[in-house]
Amino acid sequence: MTTIVQAAYIVSALLFIMALAGLSKHETAKTGNAYGVTGMGLAIVATIYLALKGADAEGALGIPAAVGLIVLAMAIGAVIGIWRAKRVEMTQMPELIAILHSLVGAAAVLVGYNSFLTEKGLRDVNSALELTGSLATIHSVEVFLGVFIGAVTLTGSVVAFLKLSTRISSKPLTLPQRHKMNLAALLISAGLMVWFVSSGNVVPLLIMTVISLLLGWHLVASIGGGDMPVVISMLNSYSGWAAAAAGFMLNNDLLIVVGALVGSSGAILSYIMCRAMGRSFISVIAGGFGGAPVSTEEKDYGEFRETNAADVAELLKDASSVVITPGYGMAVAQAQYPVADLTARLRKRGINVRFGIHPVAGRLPGHMNVLLAEAKVPYDIVLEMDEINDDLPNTDVVLVIGANDTVNPSAEDDPSSPIAGMPVIQVWKAKEVIIFKRSMAPGYAGVQNPLFFKPNSAMLFGDAKERVEDILKHL
Ligand code: NDP
Repeated sequence: MTTIVQAAYIVSALLFIMALAGLSKHETAKTGNAYGVTGMGLAIVATIYLALKGADAEGALGIPAAVGLIVLAMAIGAVIGIWRAKRVEMTQMPELIAILHSLVGAAAVLVGYNSFLTEKGLRDVNSALELTGSLATIHSVEVFLGVFIGAVTLTGSVVAFLKLSTRISSKPLTLPQRHKMNLAALLISAGLMVWFVSSGNVVPLLIMTVISLLLGWHLVASIGGGDMPVVISMLNSYSGWAAAAAGFMLNNDLLIVVGALVGSSGAILSYIMCRAMGRSFISVIAGGFGGAPVSTEEKDYGEFRETNAADVAELLKDASSVVITPGYGMAVAQAQYPVADLTARLRKRGINVRFGIHPVAGRLPGHMNVLLAEAKVPYDIVLEMDEINDDLPNTDVVLVIGANDTVNPSAEDDPSSPIAGMPVIQVWKAKEVIIFKRSMAPGYAGVQNPLFFKPNSAMLFGDAKERVEDILKHL
């Protein structure tokens, strides 16, 4: 590799690290994004330069053909990418991300097979690229692991996509002996790796590909309900490791660095989300290991109280502190703009308004923060669950806007609930709680919410955006 490309790769890698650092805070997120875009632009230019240099070598493709192929591939990718990005709704982002992860997995599988066929063996035995001795062994291990991780990511992400887009049920699939089957898949794959590395035969690679495709499918199919957020960030992590594996196979240092950055940041995010949901990391990634008991009995929670926009406006006028806890329904209704207007209006009256954001609110890590930032809600009043919970007993009014599971008290006091143990925003401790939703339907985890029946709760039915706009009119 030429020195100039190496230098460009190092600068890109630094820009990616700065991008991650920037993206970790609201205030610096835009700059972080700009670093990421610059780093990726530089990396693409350097990689194309490298590819063209390779194509110019004796016996290679030639520059015109290489340019043609690169332009064609980029054009196809750009058309599909722009088409999807323009059409996707904010509420469909999680499923879009899931399907994009599957492409990273597919790429790693294809790079693995390509690398196997061209660099070691079957067809190109006389190629200058043929590897021997320990280098050949290392390369075989890279190919095997790359295909394995890629195939697990591929089918796992497809199942996550199907579940998130409700094309299949999000309920966990519980096959008998499922943990033993997963373990057997890993052990058989390890055996196949020994066979593959020692023989260079394509058969063990093919068998392992089928096994790992099934394993990825099964791992994600057996995780369900409230554990889905962790699955998404785990697949994010897997896609990083798949990219790193492709980097080893292609001998591309930047791809290794970027893959490792994505892989480890995804793993850290998964760990944080597991902690936020009171679940063990291992139990989630092993596919619902020891999943929580599910209560099926129909309980009588009593009566609920209904309110209207005019009364809520009066309540807000008299309040001195208000907390807003948004959830998935705010994203569906696209209510963030009127919510931002309401916030500004109340703050002008001298009312202390703050937001309480649950780590798994919405359908994507950081979902609510993105929506509120989009509507230009000041960052300093957007607090995390742990920062707001202690202040709730001294809060006059809480507006629960399209949130449900993340404010469900049964997570704390019903050990038989599927969400038992998940820390929640304790909105019921405030003086008054107004819940914006369209019906009494449960949230993502499919459990009823006793919050709606508490004496200090009132339901404001209807689309969250319309109801917030109604309140604005009355103010
Ligand atoms: P929930 O999914 O629990 O509930 C959302 C509520 O919004 C529903 O009860 C629904 O009630 C209401 N709603 C929907 N549309 C509208 C609308 N237009 N106007 C008003 N209300 C509306 O939301 P939470 O954010 O509290 O919880 C997130 C859940 O999603 C958790 O269980 C989490 O584990 C899971 N999850 C999170 C992911 C993440 O990464 N954050 C990823 C995958 C899953 P109604 O139909 O009656 O209007």
